[in-house]
Amino acid sequence: MSTFQAPKGTYDLIPPDSARYLAVREAIAAPLKNSGYGYIETPGFENVELFARGVGESTDIVTKEMYAFETKGGDKLALRPEGTASVLRAALEANLHKAGNLPVKLWYSGSYYRYERPQKGRYRHFSQVGAEAIGSEDPALDAELIILADQAYRALGLRNFRILLNSLGDKECRPVYRAALQDFLRGLDLDEETLRRADINPLRVLDDKRADVQKQLVGAPVLRDYLCDACKTYHEEVRALITAAGVAFEDDEKLVRGLDYYTRTTFEFVHDGLGSQSAVGGGGRYDGLSEMIGGPSLPSVGWALGVDRTVLALEAEGVELELPPATSVFAVPLGEEARRVLFGVVTELRKAGVAADFSYGGKGLKGAMKNANRSGARYAIVAGERDLAEGVVQLKDMESGEQEAVASDAIVEVLKAKLG
Ligand code: ATP
Ligand code: MG
Repeated sequence: MSTFQAPKGTYDLIPPDSARYLAVREAIAAPLKNSGYGYIETPGFENVELFARGVGESTDIVTKEMYAFETKGGDKLALRPEGTASVLRAALEANLHKAGNLPVKLWYSGSYYRYERPQKGRYRHFSQVGAEAIGSEDPALDAELIILADQAYRALGLRNFRILLNSLGDKECRPVYRAALQDFLRGLDLDEETLRRADINPLRVLDDKRADVQKQLVGAPVLRDYLCDACKTYHEEVRALITAAGVAFEDDEKLVRGLDYYTRTTFEFVHDGLGSQSAVGGGGRYDGLSEMIGGPSLPSVGWALGVDRTVLALEAEGVELELPPATSVFAVPLGEEARRVLFGVVTELRKAGVAADFSYGGKGLKGAMKNANRSGARYAIVAGERDLAEGVVQLKDMESGEQEAVASDAIVEVLKAKLG
């Protein structure tokens, strides 16, 4: 193993590509910030118990993918595999739900950790931007979140994604369906592990990717036929609101989240250019989660979008983001005195909000101009002893190659005007 190798399943974000990740995070956050969601940041690790309860003991995340460890002090912690449980924990701890302003709307952005088999689009360290609306049962809230995610993807320029939508029912109707599904599954020719899953988490079996399992699932009871009237009405309202907003979606009866505290609305964003790691984001309602982690009843809904896969989706569609230039002006001083003068000019430009950089290390003209070129700057400013004696600097347009002398004390204003 080389010393300079990131751990398996991880990768570094480095310039210039890292700029795209920042832009994706910002683009996903923008509609949330504009819709009453406040920023929340929680620790990168929590008590392992929170995830065991809050993600679910029977999920792959908890049984196989979690980085759990014991500290020197004996605390049992885990690196966070997802955001919802932590955000809800933090909201409860700070009593945000008691401030009398429900729903509590929060957004977050950060690193998540899962011990998975690394492949394209599936990493052990990845990044998500997420949103949670806590403490309110209102179909408009479910619709809002779906619409905002759609808006974020579209703002980035993504087109080839689809929104899959389903309802999981609630604590009235789902148990009836669950029992019917279990009856059906027990009659099939399934391996032991799948039969065990049918016992603990039968809805998950519907999700099985294997063809021989899928073949047997034809004719399985469908949740839609079991939804109670309240759930049907709720789901119809979510569908109507999204439709009215002009957001296209597909009804997908097979879209499930197996745990009991996931209720009603569930959705996934898939991109068709990503092969088997096609989910770029997902979410839904989790009316029972708060009680599951020891809190009061707080019906809530949220989503998490994967930043890594969103970047891959942009690549798959060939979308070039319009990124602001890293450097607009590059200063090339020739000699000691020019170094002081141009360093001052660069500082002034930066204060004025112009992205400016400087040739460090006392390079000669040729080397420094190479740096100016590489920086992508629109303009270079060059000054030597003779320029300084005349009170000017040379302003070079890096696109046309044209050069003109500009008075040193006017250069900041001239550049500000040129760069608009
Ligand atoms: P998958 O079925 O692909 O494993 P998931 O259901 O585990 O996805 P969620 O827990 O819903 O994913 O997480 C939301 C989003 O986070 C996913 O849609 C995906 O974009 C991203 N994501 C999840 N796990 C990973 C990972 N290991 N590497 C990169 N991105 C991930
Ligand atoms: Mg997963």
